[in-house]
Amino acid sequence: MRGEVYMSKADFFALNERQLAKGKKIFANPRNAAAGSLRQLDSSITEKRPLSFFAYAWGDVSVETWTTHGEFIQLLKTWGFCVNPMTKICGGVDQALAQYVHIGEQRPHLDYDIDGVVYKVNRLDWQHRLGFVARAPRWAIAHKFPAEKAETVLNEISIQVGRTGVLTPVAELEPITVGGVVVSRATLHNSDYIVEKDIRVGDRVRIQRAGDVIPQVIEVVDDGQHAQRDVFAFPSNCPICDSHAVREDGEAATRCTGGLICSAQAHERLKHFVSRNAFDIDGLGGKHVVAFYDDGLIKSPGDIFRLTPEMLHKREGWKEKSILNLMAALDAKRTIDMPRFVYALGIRHVGQATARLLAKQYGTMDRLRQAMLDARVIGSDALEELLSIDGIGKAMADDLVGFFDEPHNAQVLEDLLASVTVESFQAPSTKGSPVAGKTVVFTGSLETMSRGEAKAKAETLGAKVSGSVSKKTDIVIVGPGAGAKEKKARDLGLRVLSEQEWTILIQGL
Ligand SMILES: [Zn+2]
Repeated sequence: MRGEVYMSKADFFALNERQLAKGKKIFANPRNAAAGSLRQLDSSITEKRPLSFFAYAWGDVSVETWTTHGEFIQLLKTWGFCVNPMTKICGGVDQALAQYVHIGEQRPHLDYDIDGVVYKVNRLDWQHRLGFVARAPRWAIAHKFPAEKAETVLNEISIQVGRTGVLTPVAELEPITVGGVVVSRATLHNSDYIVEKDIRVGDRVRIQRAGDVIPQVIEVVDDGQHAQRDVFAFPSNCPICDSHAVREDGEAATRCTGGLICSAQAHERLKHFVSRNAFDIDGLGGKHVVAFYDDGLIKSPGDIFRLTPEMLHKREGWKEKSILNLMAALDAKRTIDMPRFVYALGIRHVGQATARLLAKQYGTMDRLRQAMLDARVIGSDALEELLSIDGIGKAMADDLVGFFDEPHNAQVLEDLLASVTVESFQAPSTKGSPVAGKTVVFTGSLETMSRGEAKAKAETLGAKVSGSVSKKTDIVIVGPGAGAKEKKARDLGLRVLSEQEWTILIQGL
C-alpha cells in the first residue's frame, strides 16, 4: 500500500512539549518530526510517535480488480484505510481547478500542512496508455499553492563549489520561519542574478519557499540603506582551492578550473558517486566519503572498493560490526547495472534519464566508451549515432565526448572497472517482435497516435527510435508532410512504411 505518513499539528506540538520536558531536542516542523520518527533504527521509538497515514495508491498487485483510481479509493475505505477526505473525482479541468481553490481555502484550517494538490487521470487504461517519463507518471501532476514569502536580512553571501566546479552563490540569512520551516540559507543562482537584482550584503530581502524547492531570494526590499552598501564582487578564484574561476561563453555559471586539485569538486564527485541513484552503498554516506577523502583513505571512486577493515579499524564511529557490514555492502555493489554506473560517473548534464538512454543505445560500457572516442571525429558515424538518440542534443554530446576524451577520466574509469563489473543493458524481452533490434525513424505527422506513443510502443517492442535517417536505419515510417527524411530514406533504398503498414506490422504485439 502506498500513501503518506504525516504528523498532525496538534500531535506535533504535544510531542515537542514532551521532548522539552525530557530535555530532548525539539523538532522544527511536523514534516521533519514525521520523517525523523520513521528513520529511527529502533522501531519501538517509531511506534510511540503519533504518526498518521493517508493511503492513496497500490504497489504491486496480482490482479487489478478496479478500473479507475476512484474505485480504488472506495475500496481502500472499505478495507479500513484512511484516505484524504478531500479526494474528489472531477469531470474536467474546470472542476479540478475549482477543487484546487476549495482546498486552498481549507488549507489554514487543516490539522496538517499541505503544499498543493495532485491531479490524477481516473481511468487506469488511460494511465497505462500515458505511461511514465523516467520515473514520473504522465497521468499525475502536482499543482502547488503559491510559494510562501517572507522578509529577512542578508548577512553574507557564501560560495559553494559543485561537482563540476560551478561556483554557486548562497545567501546566508538572518533565520526566519517561512511556512513552518526555519530558513537560514537561500540560493542566489549565479553572478548574473546578483547583478540583475542588485543584491548586496546587508540588504533587506524578500525570500520565497515552495514545497521541497530550495528557498530563493527574489528581490531586495528598500530599507533606505541599499545605495550605501558595497556591490558584491563575485570571486575570480575558487574559495576552496584558489584556482582561477572562469565563465565560458554563453554560460551563466562560473567554474573553478582547479579540476583534480580542487577538494570541493572531489568531495562533490564522491558524494554523487555514492548517492542514492548512483552506487547507493549501504552504510556509506556522503559525509563518510568526504571524511575518507580528507584523511587520504580514498582519492577517486575506485579507491572506495579497495577500502579494507584495517584502514577503518581505528576510525571513530567504526566498530567491528559496522566495518563488516560495509565490506559486505561494497561486495554487493561490485556488480552494477549500466544506467546506474553511467549516472554515477557524474558526467556534466547526464542525469538518470540520459544515462538510461545511453545504456539502451550502446548496451555495454566497452561499446559506449569506444563510441564516445570515435565520436570525436566530426562527421563520423559514431557522432551521428550519438546525435540520433532522441533526447541527446549537441551540447550534451559535447559533454559526453569531452568526458571520455579527458585522460584523467579515462584513467579513473579504467581503475573503477578493475573493481566493478558493469552488467550489459538488458532490453525488456521482445520475443516474437519483428522490429526487435531494428532502428526506426518516424517522420511526418501521425494520425492514430501521438509521436510519443509511437516511440514508446516501438521501444517496448525492442526497436531503437532515432531522430535522423542514415544507412544504419532499418525502417522509416512516413506520414503526411514527411519531407527530406523520406527522400533520403528512398535514396538510400531503406524500407519505407506508411503509418497503417507499420500498425499492421506490429499488430497484436
Ligand atoms: Zn576549486
